[in-house]
Amino acid sequence: MTMLRAMVLERPGTPLRPREGAVPVPGTGELMIAVTACGVCRTDLHVVDGDLPHPKLPIVPGHEIVGRVAAIGPDVTGFSIGKRVGVPWLGATCGVCSYCREGRENLCDAPLFTGYTRDGGFASHTIADARYCFPLGETGDDAEIAPWLCAGLIGWRSYRMATAGAATQGFALGLYGFGAAAHILAQVAAWQGCRVHALTRAGDAAAQEFARSLGAIWAGASEETPPEPLDAAIIFAPVGALVPLALKAVKKGGRVVCGGIHMSNIPSFPYALLWEERQVMSVANLTREDARDFLAIAPQASVHCTVARYPLAAANEALADLRDGRLQGAAVLIP
Ligand SMILES: [Zn+2]
Ligand SMILES: [Zn+2]
Repeated sequence: MTMLRAMVLERPGTPLRPREGAVPVPGTGELMIAVTACGVCRTDLHVVDGDLPHPKLPIVPGHEIVGRVAAIGPDVTGFSIGKRVGVPWLGATCGVCSYCREGRENLCDAPLFTGYTRDGGFASHTIADARYCFPLGETGDDAEIAPWLCAGLIGWRSYRMATAGAATQGFALGLYGFGAAAHILAQVAAWQGCRVHALTRAGDAAAQEFARSLGAIWAGASEETPPEPLDAAIIFAPVGALVPLALKAVKKGGRVVCGGIHMSNIPSFPYALLWEERQVMSVANLTREDARDFLAIAPQASVHCTVARYPLAAANEALADLRDGRLQGAAVLIP
């Protein structure tokens, strides 16, 4: 008999523990998915480390899930057994709050988040609300697609905010922090004609070389001034001190978009850095429209993820490697 295997967080600040149990049965509107790959996102690290308040406990983290539909609950349409699907961070929304009604379901007042307030994909099987699952087709490797489900989607939403109202051709875009999200977005942005500048920790020659290999026209340290004023910058690193640095690098009217769910405090800075209609904004979560748009565009842009694969039981090692900056690209758990 098939058993559920999962890596479970019982208390923030403690390692995940392996757990076995019965394979879950999908309820009304739900799919049961046999997980084939689940990416490890910085948000998982924030959940595990206790940076984010009120997780469901115990919780199975993981919100970059690729798998196959293994069972279908009542009242589900559009899915069949064996179909490859993806499950993102947005696990469910209420559908009735003002944000949901305005098409801004990413800001829903009563959402569920995969791997945070409902169990996620650090497991052999998971349950998901079918309305928030996406067909993935059959092209591409499961592990290499998994990071699309959050790093890709959050990067895409950040990019849409950064470039809103502008042509992407020739757009000077700065990416601060060159981890999983930036390594995907650099490929999409370069494909759309952006002039991508990657800014990394000083002395991280490997990350800078990696960025150039993925389409960045320039890569350097965050403290450096890029060779041209930026139209916009996106900050993926969870480092508040990057906000004034990025403001310094953007031109008049330029935007600085913070793509992370958690960041260290932003130091005070002179008003002159914000003056001339520069903007600082954050991006929260995703909408299903973001997912549909990005999942259509990523194959066209031939996005290729660099992944480090870990067995499910090595989830703690994967989290430690992410925490310590030892990864290039994205960590992916294989159950
Ligand atoms: Zn809502
Ligand atoms: Zn994430």
